[in-house]
Amino acid sequence: MSPRSTFVWVSCVLTSLAVPHAIAAAAEPATAMETGIVLDRLSHEELRQWRSIARLLHASAPNGAPLYPTLRGLWEWAAESGNAIYIELSAPECVAKGIAGRFVIERVDPHGARHVGVIRLCLANIDRPHVGGAGTRADGFVRFAGLREKERYAEVLGHELAHAAYDFGSPERARMVMERVDTVSAQLLTHRAQRGNEPLDPALRQRLGERDALLEGLEAHADAIELLVWRELAKRR
Ligand SMILES: [Zn+2]
Repeated sequence: MSPRSTFVWVSCVLTSLAVPHAIAAAAEPATAMETGIVLDRLSHEELRQWRSIARLLHASAPNGAPLYPTLRGLWEWAAESGNAIYIELSAPECVAKGIAGRFVIERVDPHGARHVGVIRLCLANIDRPHVGGAGTRADGFVRFAGLREKERYAEVLGHELAHAAYDFGSPERARMVMERVDTVSAQLLTHRAQRGNEPLDPALRQRLGERDALLEGLEAHADAIELLVWRELAKRR
């Protein structure tokens, strides 16, 4: 893969293998009405790992100013937006796909009051030196360059929070991303399961092209925010 494509795996592109989202209809657990960053899916050990990342997020200078203002701003958005954003640190797709992280929309609230999403951070993959670290990006930084363990986790978290904030910017956008990315990805998955490598029909091929164009824009946005996060993390080293 080119450096660019090596990087882009971070989240969206690999949704070509994603399972379809459950939209609204499924019964939700008793904790369904929680909002903000929701940690119910973490094991005891994962909670300990998460808290160490959160400590970094909340680090402040002696005058009280956040050390990492972009990350802190994204965190505060997540906490106060009214949406529920679950954290997962050991999703099966981390092993299956070797990704560093991913944001997935699980439920779109047509009223925009409480969308549900999940941020998956694949800590073991981020720990591997080659993951996402290959090559200088077009905008001039090498992913994870100069960062240590927790800072690398924080950089990926910033990227995925940027996806969440953008996708949940309006109900229309959230639904559009679900329909044009995840539904089409599920259609591709179905095609491959039923018909192997037979050629795609023209309609699906067109939808995949539209999906990839949309993904490129979504990634560019998240990458731009990630660059800010990386600069702030690298500056403190
Ligand atoms: Zn991404």
